[in-house]
Amino acid sequence: MLEGKIALVTGAGRGIGREIALTLAKNGAFVIVNYNGSAQRAEEVVKAIREAGGDAVAMQCNVSDFAESEELVKNVIAQYGRVDILVNNAGITRDNLIMRMTEADYDAVLDTNLKGTFNMIRHLSRFFLKQRSGKIINISSVSGVMGNAGQANYSASKAGLIGLTKSVARELASRNVCVNAIAPGLIETEMTDALSDEAKENLKSLVPLGRMGRPQDVANMVLFLAGDNADYITGQVLHVDGGMVM
Ligand code: NAP
Repeated sequence: MLEGKIALVTGAGRGIGREIALTLAKNGAFVIVNYNGSAQRAEEVVKAIREAGGDAVAMQCNVSDFAESEELVKNVIAQYGRVDILVNNAGITRDNLIMRMTEADYDAVLDTNLKGTFNMIRHLSRFFLKQRSGKIINISSVSGVMGNAGQANYSASKAGLIGLTKSVARELASRNVCVNAIAPGLIETEMTDALSDEAKENLKSLVPLGRMGRPQDVANMVLFLAGDNADYITGQVLHVDGGMVM
């Protein structure tokens, strides 16, 4: 399905990004597994992909850094010549009530989740334009759509990603580049492991399907948006949330 395509997935050493990388590779894409701190886990993802008959490479980059992201893009283009699928998945939380939220926690979340995605798109957009094809998929969140008490920074970053997605979709559409966002609900990863049982139960009670989602649920939507079957879909926010937002 994705044979011959080159995919770059940010934050792919663990969690949802890992599953996205494995899924794209299983379907034929060559995957660049970006990581920031999790070098060993990123190498394990590459190993798992190769053992399953695919191919991938791990590359370190802190996506919140404009110059570092430019360097990553330069290296990727120098070595592989193009990127067909960019998945902006890297993200962090620094939860607190607004009254107690520090400036550093606000900045860190906006820098990684929103500016990190801007950085990657900014540096890759001219290659996408030249190619006259491509898929950009940004991982937002239901928090960016409905808000979430204790996550003003995170919700702002994820809502910002939706605006970024729609604006870039309009800019790149004439060159056949599709840009979409996915808004996952409550997905089982280390990010949600950090929540208290009470917070998890409260959130789960908002899910009509009555359970948490799995990273594979999100990866399945990425696979769809990355493939030819989604060629006429751009500027959209696709929810993978068990019906949490409807
Ligand atoms: P996770 O398990 O905490 O993993 C976060 C990933 O982001 C890690 O691979 C991490 O890489 C990477 N990352 C963080 N800062 C980075 C940076 N500056 N540069 C490059 N990579 C960076 O989280 P997750 O649950 O898989 O979440 C993945 C995405 O889905 C995030 O954008 C998150 O906001 C979104 N999301 C998650 C849920 C959920 O319920 N889990 C719901 C909605 C949306 P290193 O370990 O290498 O630093």
